[in-house]
Amino acid sequence: MTRATIATCRQLRHAYGPTVALDGVDLALPAGQVVALLGPNGAGKTTLIHLLLGLLPLQSGEIRLFGTTTPTDPGVRRRIGTMLQSSGVQGNLTVLELLRLFASFYGAPDEFAALVEEAGLQGLEHRRFERLSGGQQQRVLFALAAVGRPDWLLLDEPTTGLDPAARRQVWRAIEARRAAGASILLCTHMMDEARRLADHVVVMDRGRILHDGPLADAGEDLEELFFTLTEQEAA
Ligand code: ATP
Repeated sequence: MTRATIATCRQLRHAYGPTVALDGVDLALPAGQVVALLGPNGAGKTTLIHLLLGLLPLQSGEIRLFGTTTPTDPGVRRRIGTMLQSSGVQGNLTVLELLRLFASFYGAPDEFAALVEEAGLQGLEHRRFERLSGGQQQRVLFALAAVGRPDWLLLDEPTTGLDPAARRQVWRAIEARRAAGASILLCTHMMDEARRLADHVVVMDRGRILHDGPLADAGEDLEELFFTLTEQEAA
């Protein structure tokens, strides 16, 4: 049986000089699901995401997104919303100005009330980005990723630094996007977040895939595996 996929990687290898960041990654990311990408620092998650987005040149292997091998194609890019570790947004713009700017990239409607509520940004629309708290900025970045109603959302640690109420708000927003039909790749270090949100889990370590399957199949083993990886890293 073949399942619908949003992205596939075949034998991806990537090295920074002598450091091998990805060492033969094969993946098929299912469509319409939240896929959690887990792994300790240095596992290769960011490298994988950057390759998927065409932000790094492909060294070896193959990537297909929405059936094409060119992730930088504008038609493909318009179907993707990203929330990465480095945002690069203009801090002197207000929340509303940023939403308008990003909506224009997607040719999306200039109507943000529902999104502002979804991201918990009511009352902050006219505040400059640089004048927001860290947690408020995180929620703006989520809204900017979601503003074009993309088919695929890539979220790299979207709730890091948020207080518990703000975290739950972002979780609900992610669930709402999935209910609306989006596929989501969620990079996280938090097992509770993966358990709450993920349908499917990919665990990486040292550039290799250790687990790739439905969350329901992983059970307690996954938690054990992740703790072991984190402890190895801390040792
Ligand atoms: P984290 O959880 O800390 O964000 P990660 O899983 O995203 O980690 P990567 O950032 O992909 O991991 O890094 C994978 C490996 O490649 C690490 O050993 C890292 O030190 C190395 N690396 C990443 N970027 C570069 C770079 N620009 N130059 C050299 N080495 C790099």
